[in-house]
Amino acid sequence: MRINLLNIKSLQAQTFAAKKHRPDGAQGANPVYAAVKATDDVQISTVKKALEELKEVEYLPNDLIYMHAIGAKTPFNNGLEAYNWLKESGAEILYADFSNKNVHACLNFDTQKGITILINSNYKDDCSHADILAISEAIFHECGHGKDFDSENSIQEELDCLSLNVLAHRYYERKYPNVFKNHDSFLFSQGVSLYPKLFFNFLLTFANPYPGTSTI
Ligand SMILES: [Zn+2]
Repeated sequence: MRINLLNIKSLQAQTFAAKKHRPDGAQGANPVYAAVKATDDVQISTVKKALEELKEVEYLPNDLIYMHAIGAKTPFNNGLEAYNWLKESGAEILYADFSNKNVHACLNFDTQKGITILINSNYKDDCSHADILAISEAIFHECGHGKDFDSENSIQEELDCLSLNVLAHRYYERKYPNVFKNHDSFLFSQGVSLYPKLFFNFLLTFANPYPGTSTI
């Protein structure tokens, strides 16, 4: 099986009801509806580069220990496993207009169509190196959702998939110092740059609810 990137152009507009992944972690009641957007060479190039970056992702050892300590179970042991899973599953990666503009990406599982990873079309012309890395993190996250081949989600699954964003992001920060500097668009401020803070800096983010006691 292969990733159908080259078939993107030939696809007719399709509408998906993506049941997985709400940015707030809620489930079920309000699925995200997505209409596939015509895709050109920019998006195909961005996704291909994102997948090449994803293949190289390794977790920083202390980060992985931390993730295990807070109960996150990484669906993949590195980026290459996710890349190989993508190839074997035949998942497609497309850009789409979402009913909820705040969703960065989502996954549609259909017993007929298979797995489709949808990226918000707001990002379709974003192709800087930082953008490519951000897209790769989003793809990594959705691979985590797709790995179990079902349309169900859970808080545990969301946590597990978010850990993939964070682990990849911190790997990229180490590999490409300052690559995310001065990127503060919605994709970054409410996505790739936010998740690591929520995982690692939460003691700084929230005031100590019990004055006089340590937060550690
Ligand atoms: Zn998710």
